[in-house]
Amino acid sequence: MTDIPVRPEMAGFKAYVPGLSIDEIKDRYGLTKVIKMASNENPLGVSPLVQERLRRDAALAFRYAQAGTPVLRAALAGHLGVPSSSLVAGNGSDEIIDLLLRVVARPGVDNVLAFDPCFSIYDVQARLCGVEFRQIPLNGDFSFPLERLADMADENTALVFVTNPDNPSGHACPAAALADLARRLPRRTLLVVDEAYIEFALPRDEYSVLPYFSSISNLVILRTFSKMYGLAGLRLGYGVMPEWLADMLLRVKLPFSVNILAERAGLAVLEDEAFVAETLRVVHTGRTELADELSALGCEVYPSQANFLMFAPPMDARTLFEELLRRGVIIRPLGSYGLPGMLRVSVGNAEENREFLEKTAEVLRGHHHRHS
Ligand SMILES: *Cc1c(COP(=O)(O)O)cnc(C)c1O
Repeated sequence: MTDIPVRPEMAGFKAYVPGLSIDEIKDRYGLTKVIKMASNENPLGVSPLVQERLRRDAALAFRYAQAGTPVLRAALAGHLGVPSSSLVAGNGSDEIIDLLLRVVARPGVDNVLAFDPCFSIYDVQARLCGVEFRQIPLNGDFSFPLERLADMADENTALVFVTNPDNPSGHACPAAALADLARRLPRRTLLVVDEAYIEFALPRDEYSVLPYFSSISNLVILRTFSKMYGLAGLRLGYGVMPEWLADMLLRVKLPFSVNILAERAGLAVLEDEAFVAETLRVVHTGRTELADELSALGCEVYPSQANFLMFAPPMDARTLFEELLRRGVIIRPLGSYGLPGMLRVSVGNAEENREFLEKTAEVLRGHHHRHS
């Protein structure tokens, strides 16, 4: 601690609790092989085309990127069918969340709404901005009480954050219902739909609000290259938003927050249709297999449209998490989301899924024997 004066908001903060890293677990348990199914990363790794481009472009790393990432924004505009003037690229979509709060929400005046539980970045960045963060509990089945969100919004509500498909449950809400919500909110209130996992939803067209973008003036959509595109470590995400707002974000954004290699990698993976198709195939088959097998082991598995599954095991969740760690499998306990009885596992490749299921079955069997 220090007696130097700092922002009073600092008093309430604890560090972000990330998924554990492979090296930490190798060291802790003396293991040579550890698999990580904790942070919803791409189970195929980095696209081969991206790896080739990064090798080729490594010699560019001494240069500043072009401020505002115009080449990538133009490519995305073509890809998504929106004007590039409505796109802002960031150092992960986390940066766009932070910028939206700082540009739109007035400290000490405005409030921000989200569900409970929700992605912790909304909460942390809102409070650091000195903006009141209000949460509405999800329904018992993790579906969205959209009516309550609409009722809770007032003239000082700057932003409403909804993650769709949701993290950590995997629940997805039809886009039409979110479009209705946007229309019901006060005119000044922006509905921010965080579509970090939208590519994994089936059918995607039923769930993405992108088709509504041109007709709803208070809609913002967040996307990321961290999940389906396999670039979490390079940090690249973007927002689709009204042009006036994109213009404001671009005026205050740190000019080089998207580095030159992240931009090149993003451009390459947008071209790599085979990698994307294979990712979707692996995630969709793996998701079904994991859900079926976990249910057969006596877990309560929640329906997921994302690249992960949330489940309640038939034993203490924290103990199962720790027993899996000891066996070299990292998944995510959800105590930090206020869900101590739940776990979240990212869909892995075929070998990782098999390993996770074998180890889980082993722990559950041992537990059952001790208790019967
Ligand atoms: C992973 C994730 C993101 C993406 O974050 P990046 O900063 O782009 O890596 C955004 N929102 C949610 C809910 C996520 O789970």
